[in-house]
Amino acid sequence: KDIFGADRKNSAGTNIEIASEWQPFRESVEAFTDHHWTAGAIVNGEVQTGDIYKVTAPYDRRESVGEVAFASSALVAKAIDVAAEAFPAWSATPAAERGACLQRLADLLEANTGELVALCHREAGKTIQDSIDEIREAVDFLRFYSHQAATEFAAGKPVVGFDGQERTLTYQGRGVFACISPWNFPLAIFLGQVSAALAAGNTVVCKPAEQTSLIAFRAIQMMLEAGVPAGAIQFVPGRGAEVGSVLTSDVRIAGVAFTGSTETAQRINRTLAARDCDPVPFIAETGGQNAMIVDSTALPEQVVRDVVRSAFASAGQRCSALRVLFVQEDVADRVVGLIKGAMAELNVGRPELHSTDVGPVIDATAKQKLLTHIGALKNQAKMVAQASASPDCAHGDFVLPTAFEIRGINVLQNENFGPILHIVRFKASELDKVIDQINQTGFGLTMGVHSRNERTYSHIERRARVGNCYINRDQVGAVVGVQPFGGQGLSGTGPKAGGPHYLYRFTKDVFTA
Ligand code: NAD
Repeated sequence: KDIFGADRKNSAGTNIEIASEWQPFRESVEAFTDHHWTAGAIVNGEVQTGDIYKVTAPYDRRESVGEVAFASSALVAKAIDVAAEAFPAWSATPAAERGACLQRLADLLEANTGELVALCHREAGKTIQDSIDEIREAVDFLRFYSHQAATEFAAGKPVVGFDGQERTLTYQGRGVFACISPWNFPLAIFLGQVSAALAAGNTVVCKPAEQTSLIAFRAIQMMLEAGVPAGAIQFVPGRGAEVGSVLTSDVRIAGVAFTGSTETAQRINRTLAARDCDPVPFIAETGGQNAMIVDSTALPEQVVRDVVRSAFASAGQRCSALRVLFVQEDVADRVVGLIKGAMAELNVGRPELHSTDVGPVIDATAKQKLLTHIGALKNQAKMVAQASASPDCAHGDFVLPTAFEIRGINVLQNENFGPILHIVRFKASELDKVIDQINQTGFGLTMGVHSRNERTYSHIERRARVGNCYINRDQVGAVVGVQPFGGQGLSGTGPKAGGPHYLYRFTKDVFTA
């Protein structure tokens, strides 16, 4: 059962450890090995031309993947015109009918898994398991939000008063929502935002991250095929500083759903504040400086398994990923030794290979930033371990999983969005100081705790200012409808994606008595 007690199942995905599932899956992905995709803005159902952005594979920059025609500022304005005109009809469409279009899209995504996985590998550099999980999560968001809209927004909710008078609360779309998404979940977060906005009765102008416009374009094509009217969904790929800022500064935008870095969220917040119009909702899900605290009662082997997955899976490119591991001094040598051993076993390589644990980072800019950070730490801190790369990494944007011992979390100024783990030793008497230091970063996304002492983990959980706290497990991979996900402070405004309150932020509530 999900959060609402409904018997709604999440997508099953593919189990690649079972030969009878792996073989047809592999063939369906390989059909797109040499495919060249072309994409452009989609305004009122028509694909548009524009300045060309060439897409190459993150694991081998010699491999061309496709090209995208970016939207101009004038096209963004036209897209908002179309979405504004379509709003009255879409918001008046029954919630169940809006939801049915999104349910059909979920089915289409599952039917096209081979192509979408190929795009996850070739455009975003995602490993096989990450690609499967990406499509599953997108499907889950579509089914979860459309189910919730159909059950909760179909009719007004009666508000019972002591005087017996009839009162109703209805949830309606607000107008044109801008949805702006990152490259690290190019389908799941992109469609999560868009489907929530549409299910709630808004029309949408969406802008994917420039690095992953091809997969987003295919998703919008399928959305139109699934029956979402051409006026209700406008797609404007392009650079954030251009397309994103034109979109968010337009006074007709009635709300913004954003996922990305804290700096960009702050920029958008300023843009929205400078507009001379009604204040609008701003949903921002942003970065983290996520820690894990391990005390001397923890099981070392379990800790190491969860640390390696939390820090290095997806090449550390998850907002929830572990950045700073605090290990109690008494067990630190043992735990650090095991981490070192586990890191020596990591396979860094091409994402489409079954044997790969860690694929490339998204682009040369990200790689350079991470290498600069590693370079700086080499002079100030002790390197614990660095994984090695396979020879086929030579032409891609790879960063080797690396672990350092550092003095404290306060030496880190920013989120380092890649496979870099920082380890800090602490004394048992310093536990509260550690929690305070983590809180003082201002970020509040995820925290991991490994302890078999209930008093310790309950104490940490109570004092930590984070959105998602995970005890005796890894701290990545929140499941839609089961683990609502989102941070606080510098990590975001809430509400939690995949949770019961998310959709309500996209509506205006009208009370009648
Ligand atoms: P980013 O902030 O660089 O870009 C995100 C999106 O914003 C992109 O579409 C980009 O084009 C757009 N953008 C950039 N400047 C803009 C502007 N001035 N106006 C409007 N839009 C603009 O982030 P990224 O590098 O794509 O993604 C990685 C970041 O996202 C990390 O910080 C990560 O922690 C965060 N993230 C957070 C969550 C979460 O749920 N909290 C999930 C995934 C990623």
